[in-house]
Amino acid sequence: MQPTQLLGAVDVGATKTLVAALQTTVDRWPADVLVRRFPTPVDVDELVARIAAALAELADGRSLKRIGVGAPGPLDPITGIILHSPNQAWRDVPLGPMLAAEAGAPVALDDDANLGALGEAVLGAGAGASSIAYVTIGTGIGAGIVINGRIMRGGHGNAGEVGHLVVDPIGPRCGCGGRGHVESFAGGAGLARRARAQWPSGLLRGDTLIAAPTDADGVFRAARRGEPDARGLADDAADALAIALAAVVATLDPDRIVVGGSLGLRQRSFVRAAVLRARRRVIAEAARSLHVVPARLGSMSVLAGAAVLASQVEHHP
Ligand SMILES: [Zn+2]
Repeated sequence: MQPTQLLGAVDVGATKTLVAALQTTVDRWPADVLVRRFPTPVDVDELVARIAAALAELADGRSLKRIGVGAPGPLDPITGIILHSPNQAWRDVPLGPMLAAEAGAPVALDDDANLGALGEAVLGAGAGASSIAYVTIGTGIGAGIVINGRIMRGGHGNAGEVGHLVVDPIGPRCGCGGRGHVESFAGGAGLARRARAQWPSGLLRGDTLIAAPTDADGVFRAARRGEPDARGLADDAADALAIALAAVVATLDPDRIVVGGSLGLRQRSFVRAAVLRARRRVIAEAARSLHVVPARLGSMSVLAGAAVLASQVEHHP
């Protein structure tokens, strides 16, 4: 049998890394796709070595044609350099060139929001639509735009940065250093910070102090139970997310908005509340055509996007 070339796909997440090898077409995703996963090492040399080892094991003697890699941004998809990753404390890390040297195949790198968008657009909830915006709500909030199967990065790579739109200039701090951003109200880390500030010593029910929510899911649970302060935080979160969704609709008017990310997939009623509010923030025609669906690839959307990127031959220099 002739040795076949494979595609590599990698999702470097904040906590875990997924590595996959597949045939040179993504049509059969997720069938025939072998996946390895391991906790993301903080040390970049170790990360690169582990990815290369996993790819070599999956390829089993066959060569790799190209490797698509999704990583936390901001990063430069042309040079393959991660500019800054707060979770890993990385600065100017040349992940693309390092992995290309170690694994012996060209690497195409892009940020996780863009690749989540590409994965969902081609293989998930956006399949069949010509334009989609993928909004990911997890620790932070990001968005990727895909038009006709291609990522739209904008002139400077910042297209879709709706998580850092200002909701309230004197609002709570954002992970990026700004104030009152969408993400500070509606992202997982922002909601956890707001919960700690709201209930520094517990939540008063009647005369009893009970354990207060410490994370976003806890805030939404308490809000559903009717805790007034939690409802306030959940309300602020829905308002903030509505601003992000309205901005996407007003500027892009996509066929579909796909909502993913751990929080976006778990807290569907929060997303629905935000969609209702977003409809009131845009022109009536756009409100009627606003179509929001949950991501279909779950925790695999970035990995799938990395595979699609690797399959797009002329995509990267
Ligand atoms: Zn921000």
